[in-house]
Amino acid sequence: MLIVFCCVVLHEFGHALTAQRFGVGTRDITILPIGGVASLERMPEDPKQEFWITIAGPLVNLVIAGISFAILAASGTTPTTTGLFSDLSGWAGILTFLFAANLSLFLFNLIPAFPMDGGRILRSVLGMWLPRAKATRIATVVGRVLAACFVAYGLYSGAPFLAIIGVFIFMAAGAEARTVQQKANVLALRVGQRVRTDLIHMAPTATVQDAWNAMTMIDQHVVMVMDQGLLRGLVMKEDLRTALGAGRGTESIASHTRHVPSVAVEETAMSAYEQMLREGLWALMATSNGAIAGVVLRVDLEKALGATPLS
Ligand SMILES: [Zn+2]
Repeated sequence: MLIVFCCVVLHEFGHALTAQRFGVGTRDITILPIGGVASLERMPEDPKQEFWITIAGPLVNLVIAGISFAILAASGTTPTTTGLFSDLSGWAGILTFLFAANLSLFLFNLIPAFPMDGGRILRSVLGMWLPRAKATRIATVVGRVLAACFVAYGLYSGAPFLAIIGVFIFMAAGAEARTVQQKANVLALRVGQRVRTDLIHMAPTATVQDAWNAMTMIDQHVVMVMDQGLLRGLVMKEDLRTALGAGRGTESIASHTRHVPSVAVEETAMSAYEQMLREGLWALMATSNGAIAGVVLRVDLEKALGATPLS
């Protein structure tokens, strides 16, 4: 068990150290009874990097198997002809076991089904010609067909463990596909899909207290300041809170109106959100063909883009 444990750890180090070469850190490595998981900070979307990071693990096992085989061969023993597999009392036995264990780890991990390394390798190879989401879909279908075969074979041949692995792979494959699809949707999201036209409108002559009351009543953080049918700017709840705290509740909201920059509805939600973060804004005007179409709020984009970390 200790030998297998060490080989699995080395396998995970293969992933982690290759990832490090591409500037990706590893949070931790977990060793489970069925194998290990190296939690990378992120998986690079460049298929070539994903390919090398993923294949590095199984290659470690192949190298260990190769070295064991070479030492055995040099000493005149071949792993296939000796009965040493279950005898770990001598060097030949340990080397035979190392050879067999690592060859199995290598082959098992190459099964082209998520979350096995083989699934990622297949996706990255397809990804060199196809968009990532499509490559993932194909790899998922291949993985599911294989998983179904595992289940069928496991039940047929009375190997319930194989059937359980099959069910596990089948479900994990779907999770991977969903994550990638979600991310593709997030990147494709446009400002126009999150434009608000339902915000409270108020005249610039309204008082700070009135605007505050209206906002608290329907739980909004922004008021559109309209003057003779034209959008003059926005009033933010935080500004009103400050003004009220300073006892300026009877002032008109005109002096608290912000002239926020505008963004075209065709712009991606991601770039609009990044602009808001950069400039410390809570909202942007959304324009369509130069005319104001509404307001896009940072909270809405935060919610919509939630799946993607932004640092
Ligand atoms: Zn691996």
